[in-house]
Amino acid sequence: MINTLNDKTKIIKKYHFKEKTVKTILNKRHGPRQLFMEDYSFNIYNGCTFDCSYCYINGSKYAEDTKTYYVKTNANDLLHQQLKNKAKKGERALFTIGSASDPYMEIEKELFMTREFLKIANKFHYPVHIVTKSDLICRDIDILQKINKNSILPMELVDKIDEKVIVSFSFSTVFDDVAKIFEPNAPKPTRRLKSIKKLKDAGFRVGITFMPILPFITDTDKVLRETIKIFKDYNVDYILPSTLTLYGESENDCRYKYLKKVKKFYPEYYDETKKLFESKVKGKYLDYPNKHYHYNLLKKVKNLSKEYNISNLLY
Ligand code: SF4
Repeated sequence: MINTLNDKTKIIKKYHFKEKTVKTILNKRHGPRQLFMEDYSFNIYNGCTFDCSYCYINGSKYAEDTKTYYVKTNANDLLHQQLKNKAKKGERALFTIGSASDPYMEIEKELFMTREFLKIANKFHYPVHIVTKSDLICRDIDILQKINKNSILPMELVDKIDEKVIVSFSFSTVFDDVAKIFEPNAPKPTRRLKSIKKLKDAGFRVGITFMPILPFITDTDKVLRETIKIFKDYNVDYILPSTLTLYGESENDCRYKYLKKVKKFYPEYYDETKKLFESKVKGKYLDYPNKHYHYNLLKKVKNLSKEYNISNLLY
């Protein structure tokens, strides 16, 4: 474990991250509970070294400079203070981590920032929802088990779920060779699948964020069926599907990065993929594929999930 500030700085440098301090850390949900069910979401890291070419943070408001990675060095001090205050007031909440930067990137192996947050959540009895592509999460099973045992769910979730630890593993594909193209630095899907088993055995609620489903690559009837069957074999609790979105127009943005990969590795699908995202409003590309495609794909996933008796909601 790390003991000194000096050690932390060395690790941050070793992984080519930069340090930054932030004034606020928690994003409060407005309106009804959405996909991830959270009351609050946050990210300890800024930017993501897994570098998925379709990643929506490239070109969106979540990372202006996608070549630089940051550690919010005061994140856990802020989180400790805020969770302590909330617990004092008797506020119950679900905290989601990992919506805009994976909490288990390589640096976490040595920096333990996510692990430190989990200790804070456990101390104040708060349930957590972790979104990740990494099997490094299994390192923290010991603390997650304590959270699962000791935390208190917000009232409106009490009748819906039993577990106080929810883990969503992100997949755009279950096949390692496809993942190697589009998610070059992320742990392989086969490693993620093994982690699902470990986390299910440990008693957590474990599901899939099946997003983005890649047009013409992982969205065909045959591949969708194979994929959902594999998820069923691992006994996942839910599948949250979503279509691809492509943001921005510069070379660092996911529109450019994703289409470049398709052109190189799947040239036969390049024109069709481009066509899906061709619509413009006021001279700017729309981020989403056309409605017809979107609706049909989600309907197919919904029907297959039903056939395999898997929920498309987190509960
Ligand atoms: S793991 Fe998630 S946050 Fe990280 S690059 Fe991939 S899609 Fe983006």
